[in-house]
Amino acid sequence: MHALQFDETKCLHCEGQDCLAKCQYIDIETGGTAREMVKIARGEDSFILHECVTCYACEEYCPMGNHPFYLIVERQEALGISPVPRPLVTRAVNLGIPFRGEPVVEEINGPLLNMAAFSELTHLIEGKLFEGLPVISTDGRKMFHYFCQLMYLHYARSSVIKERLPGIIATIERHKPTKVICFHDECYGTYASYCPAVGIDVPFTPVHFYEYLYNRLTELKESIRPIGLKVAYQRPCSSRLSPDKHRFVGEIFRLIGAEAVQREFVDENALCCGGTILGQRREGSRKRAAEIQKKNVEDMKKAGAQVCVFNCPACLQTLGGMVAREGIRPVHMSDLCRFAIGETPRGWEVQE
Ligand code: SF4
Ligand code: SF4
Repeated sequence: MHALQFDETKCLHCEGQDCLAKCQYIDIETGGTAREMVKIARGEDSFILHECVTCYACEEYCPMGNHPFYLIVERQEALGISPVPRPLVTRAVNLGIPFRGEPVVEEINGPLLNMAAFSELTHLIEGKLFEGLPVISTDGRKMFHYFCQLMYLHYARSSVIKERLPGIIATIERHKPTKVICFHDECYGTYASYCPAVGIDVPFTPVHFYEYLYNRLTELKESIRPIGLKVAYQRPCSSRLSPDKHRFVGEIFRLIGAEAVQREFVDENALCCGGTILGQRREGSRKRAAEIQKKNVEDMKKAGAQVCVFNCPACLQTLGGMVAREGIRPVHMSDLCRFAIGETPRGWEVQE
């Protein structure tokens, strides 16, 4: 039940594509990828399973839609190879239990915004961009009824995701949404990429947050005043699961008159915020995370960014202080969009 669709014959015939040769965290010789992926598909151990920092990027790198990262995680779990110290895995898995208590379910019969576990960030969905949009989220008692669970990929726990997801999807469906706008692109990746990959049925249409923002900004085009700021974008790991939606970053920037600075670590070549690597059990992980963060922030600075735009609240928490110390303002994309239509997001009063 819920078996991952992975076709090893695709690897045997994808010569030259080399998803793992693009990996920024593992050294693998060109041509070696297919051999390692076939080994992993056959249930064998591979150094990849031990060295993967769970950045999700090979999901984007594979041009054959073959889900190399989902396979790596499944095999890590099957072989007991945990990227994170085991007590932390247990704590994290217990934290996100979704079915404590009954959620209050209201039938919407229209689009709704799923804030998932980010109920404390409702200040990011205020104003005209979100007017009249019903919201569902974890409630104040920390009942994770809408939390997509996909973060357990970082903990080599596909089984937890597969066990909990059908119930979460059923809870969302009880609201009778026509569309589910996903505040976090990890949720979007769950419903648009992970569920089809493992055969979990999704009865609603997920919408990426940036696609929603772009469409709302287009409707409110008359209110936009070009912001004229030089911006860098911190791409989150989960955006690798929906690379077709990444284009909305550039489209939103164009619409609001932001100038995307020319960087080395951008788009497919983006670097992770380092948050996941920091908590891993491999020797030297903290040092490695610090090096990646330094490289990333220096790249933004060198490119002349005034603002670093975040999608993922966890990336913002991890890297926000560091970019701020370099004189680059960390902001969430929705706040930047609100600013562009003349609103004052929380904490922006001094900027006006
Ligand atoms: S996962 Fe994709 S890119 Fe990687 S070896 Fe297999 S088919 Fe090729
Ligand atoms: S998830 Fe990232 S670190 Fe792991 S193998 Fe894929 S590209 Fe490399």
